[in-house]
Amino acid sequence: MVTHFTATELFEKAIRLFSISTLRYLIFAGSAFLIFYVLMKEKWSHRRIQKKFPGKENLWYEIKYSMLNMLIFMITGLCIAIANEHGITKMYKNISDYGTAYFFFSIIAMIFIHDTYFYWGHRFMHLRKIYPIVHKVHHHSINPSPWASFSFHPIEGFIEAGIVPLIVMIMPAHALAVFIFILFSTALNVIGHLGFEMYSPGFTKNKLTGWNNTSTHHNMHHTFFDCNYGLYFNFWDKLMGTNHEKYHETFEKMAAAKPENTKAD
Ligand SMILES: [Zn+2]
Ligand SMILES: [Zn+2]
Repeated sequence: MVTHFTATELFEKAIRLFSISTLRYLIFAGSAFLIFYVLMKEKWSHRRIQKKFPGKENLWYEIKYSMLNMLIFMITGLCIAIANEHGITKMYKNISDYGTAYFFFSIIAMIFIHDTYFYWGHRFMHLRKIYPIVHKVHHHSINPSPWASFSFHPIEGFIEAGIVPLIVMIMPAHALAVFIFILFSTALNVIGHLGFEMYSPGFTKNKLTGWNNTSTHHNMHHTFFDCNYGLYFNFWDKLMGTNHEKYHETFEKMAAAKPENTKAD
């Protein structure tokens, strides 16, 4: 694509995009790792979904592939900047152009669009011919840690990152709304790969909270592969009958677990 940006401007943008993506990963995954795998490791061990902790080799594998994807996110960001310069995107500059209500609505819309995009993209990546090329890297982590949040093959990296160009092409989007959406997505992604279930019993059955997914939900996807494909919400898994048959039961068991020393013998 032709661009009016100078080489220096493009280079500066690339550095900024790479730094922001990397910082986001290190802050979200790093703080979750520090809290759950170092500081509270023993205290919260009863909430551990898979009792064993992943080995160092697995953690480095997850970090290595996640860092590779920071480059993919950088390239995607640069493409959006160039497309924006050519007026191809629907991005807008002033929040007042569409108003504050639309600003907040757009963030919620992005989350719902992404949830559908992810579910079907994920089902696609589990097709027998696609899986070994595109999605196997992510499933290297059978017992994932927060570092696995962006541990994808580069092709999957482009598919995952593709939600942002899609959004800014189909709906008016303010850069800050996109940024908030990305932070939300990262936080939920880290929760999915946390390896600990911190929600309370009844969460998946409650009318108000039951439509959200849980850490147990995605952890079971890493264990059993052919179930629990959803991202933020449970709508699609419920509708398509792809929730693991023991999902709710496993969740309840995890959420109700008590620390060893408080158990009655
Ligand atoms: Zn995963
Ligand atoms: Zn998968």
